[in-house]
Amino acid sequence: MVNYKDLGLVNTREMFKKAVTGGYAIPAFNFNTMEQMQAIVMAAVETKSPVIMQVSKGARNYANATILRYMAEGAVAYAKELGCPNPEIVLHLDHGDSFELCKDCIDMGFSSVMIDGSSLPYEENIALAKKVVDYAHQFDVTVEAELGVLAGVEDEVSSAESHYTKPEEVIDFSTRTGCDSLAISIGTSHGAHKFTPEQCTLVNGVLVPPPLAFDILHEIEKKLPGFPIVLHGSSSVPMEEVNTINKFGGHLEAAIGIPEEQLREAAKSAVCKINIDSDSRLAMTAAIRQHLAEHPGDFDPRQYLKPARENMKKMYIHKIVNVLGSDGKLG
Ligand SMILES: [Zn+2]
Repeated sequence: MVNYKDLGLVNTREMFKKAVTGGYAIPAFNFNTMEQMQAIVMAAVETKSPVIMQVSKGARNYANATILRYMAEGAVAYAKELGCPNPEIVLHLDHGDSFELCKDCIDMGFSSVMIDGSSLPYEENIALAKKVVDYAHQFDVTVEAELGVLAGVEDEVSSAESHYTKPEEVIDFSTRTGCDSLAISIGTSHGAHKFTPEQCTLVNGVLVPPPLAFDILHEIEKKLPGFPIVLHGSSSVPMEEVNTINKFGGHLEAAIGIPEEQLREAAKSAVCKINIDSDSRLAMTAAIRQHLAEHPGDFDPRQYLKPARENMKKMYIHKIVNVLGSDGKLG
């Protein structure tokens, strides 16, 4: 049993409080590899931003749970080495699907977990979330729960249809579970193919997806004033990365994300955590494809992972500064 505080990590409580009142959001970036971890830490240190590093079940299967935990511990040490004496780094479990998985992460040093019972009937979702909260709070670990269902595919999380969060349920749900933050469904979705072209409108040659349901978000805010709200599936799927991938041998069709304008608007509200995963995958793949196409003789992974890391870092900094507004917010 390791407590996250001994690893130099922090939970989300204080940073969410400041983000809600300050009108910005904390970036939650998924990581699976060393290069992603380094890029996240470099971006957070350079912009003086708090950051949530999150691990999905798929990441645990890919990289091994213990290794990821040590990488997060390494991330704290690396941030200090880069000149940030008191980094605010959260190690968060993304989409925990059972009490056992959440407990396992808490016991190995995670400072925050998500229990996703959103596919369960309402009362079962509450019972599961409460069980996780009761365990987590003994160790001052914060818990994110979810109401409403997001469409799309992300690792092992997938749903064909989305169901918007019902504002009339949020008070009952947050009170009875005791959760510290609430993930809601207002039209974001998982993956790089969030919308079909048929769902979008063509504006100046660009496919624009339907707007997020800000009316639902505002109703939720009214019911739970100051309560931390989380948006999943919030990659923007930048066309320049998609075009680079396709130009250098890739084949990504109709990849469409959430316009950054809308995320910027959401960040100014009670939304205080915005999850971004696909954009990092696109940035990494685009840089690797371009490098290998332009340097066909290269075979040292460092030759193509270095520009991949640079491209991810650039993307993370852009999100922090231009979309979430968490730069300069380190305590
Ligand atoms: Zn998600």
